[in-house]
Amino acid sequence: MSLIVQKFGGTSVADVEKIRAAARKAIRAHTQGHQVVTVVSAMGKNTDRLVELAYELNERPPAREMDVLLSTGEQVTVALMAMAIESLGYKAVSLTGAQMGIRTDNTFTKARIQSIDTQRIQGYLDAGNIVIAAGFQGIDDEFNITTLGRGGSDTTAVALAAVLGADTCEIYTDVDGVYTTDPRLLPEARRVEVVSYDEMLELASLGAGVMHNRSIEFAKKFGVPIHVRSSFSDTTGSMIVAECESESSPVCGAAMTKNEARVTILGVPDVPGTSLDIFSRIADRKIAVDMIVQNMGTEGRADLSFTVPNSELAVTLEAARDAIEKIGAQGVSYDENVSKISVVGLGMAQQTGVAHRMFSALAEAGINIYMITTSEIKISALVPRDKAQDALRVVHNTFKLDSVAEDARNWSRIQHDRSQTADLQSVVATLQDDTLEKLTLTDIALVPDQARITLLGVPDRPGIAADIFADVGKSGIFVDMIVQGYDGEDGTTSVSFTVPKADYANSRAVAEALCKKFNLRGIEGADDIAKLSVSGIGLRSHTSVGTIMFRTLAQAGVNIQMINTSELQVNVVIQSDKAAETERLLRETFAESLRS
Ligand code: ASP
Ligand code: MG
Repeated sequence: MSLIVQKFGGTSVADVEKIRAAARKAIRAHTQGHQVVTVVSAMGKNTDRLVELAYELNERPPAREMDVLLSTGEQVTVALMAMAIESLGYKAVSLTGAQMGIRTDNTFTKARIQSIDTQRIQGYLDAGNIVIAAGFQGIDDEFNITTLGRGGSDTTAVALAAVLGADTCEIYTDVDGVYTTDPRLLPEARRVEVVSYDEMLELASLGAGVMHNRSIEFAKKFGVPIHVRSSFSDTTGSMIVAECESESSPVCGAAMTKNEARVTILGVPDVPGTSLDIFSRIADRKIAVDMIVQNMGTEGRADLSFTVPNSELAVTLEAARDAIEKIGAQGVSYDENVSKISVVGLGMAQQTGVAHRMFSALAEAGINIYMITTSEIKISALVPRDKAQDALRVVHNTFKLDSVAEDARNWSRIQHDRSQTADLQSVVATLQDDTLEKLTLTDIALVPDQARITLLGVPDRPGIAADIFADVGKSGIFVDMIVQGYDGEDGTTSVSFTVPKADYANSRAVAEALCKKFNLRGIEGADDIAKLSVSGIGLRSHTSVGTIMFRTLAQAGVNIQMINTSELQVNVVIQSDKAAETERLLRETFAESLRS
């Protein structure tokens, strides 16, 4: 028999009417022949209210008592939900964390699950009940009530789905799915049928959050299909699974990060250790640096540009000035009127010319690009803020995100095989090292035999990136990383990209032709480089990853030639003769965070 886990967040159970509506959804799934486990959060903003109450009585409420208090929110909802179902003529049983045998450690307010008694839940299901499970809570070995950290009901739901071998985990929320871009910004945004775990993680880090990122990573690890849908309507929503919506479409979504600021450190001595000096000072101030681009400079100096949220600019500049003094850089420039436009898609990893399509679209609209970074499944361009809205529309149009591709997967065709029930031990083990506090990396990889081409003195005007990558694309070369930096000095920029070593000669020829055609200052290149990638989740927001990586490289005396970052990866391009040794060092440094 099939089994469905449903999760209703706070807004979906905020009052009696909403609880009744949620009850009907559980009943409907039950009458369609599924076994149903419904995980609920506290009603509306109840948890916030309980937190406020606690602080009114005690500036430092004891963590144990905090958990006794906060767990009541979910206990209220499970009971009411069970009553609602019973009044509609069906059997339901409410279970608290303790009653489900969700054993945790005793780290109050952010406990980790140690075991789950699935037999109890299964017993109630087999007896014909709809099981209403309290999200976000458990019990420790001493019978103390514990909670899993704010937003923890998502974790409860996905964990139950994994260990019970659910066919789907339905997340009912106040939006009806995942959109190609924020519909409040672009009315033509479309709800997608299917989005892959990785795409969702990137989009979420760009602000399209519907769920806790960690729950998505968890679902990915155990192959739990997630169906994000509206609690206020009956329409199907979006499935988050391993596959993307369409194999033929390189892009599944676009996003705008409106309030960004660009900071450029000018004339950084091109020696190992400078990135560390700069970024560790910024990370110490808990600021997440985003696009990082290093321009190949002249006379042993480089310009290093990066973006931070506009609200963090002042503090960032303070850190930057400290670093400049220490490393003997020449100065700093910044622009606080910029926005970032990003496109995300699994398909772009297999297709050439995707970046070029984005650049040409922006060029045709007369929008200048200040900085570019690309990673496996994401391309970001920094543009003037007053053009950002236009840029989003243009990009959305270019990739035809408003219409469904012919080869699109339909959510109903995505079937899950219940024999895939995840082994309880491994689910629990993952949950234990899956806390938000702790960094988890999934891989450190070395891509050898790469080459880099840098075009110097590229005029800073709309369309130049498009022109360049049109020519590169025509020659059939597969470009991997692209970075376009910013040069405050003479109004030119430099553009670097990597290609397979085998394509180096060919790429150089193309670059020479470009140099003549656009009257560039020169070209620079290397065919003895390698790319090192550190993969994981939350890398963009986890400010320490970059710092640790830069420190390791600095200690090994390795000079960084290119850098890019995304939610899922930090990549650096370095000299190949030091690559294997550096990979070994990184593995050693990150051994604790690297999970097998
Ligand atoms: N009620 C808890 C919170 O607000 C758990 C949840 O909603 O996921 O954080
Ligand atoms: Mg909540």
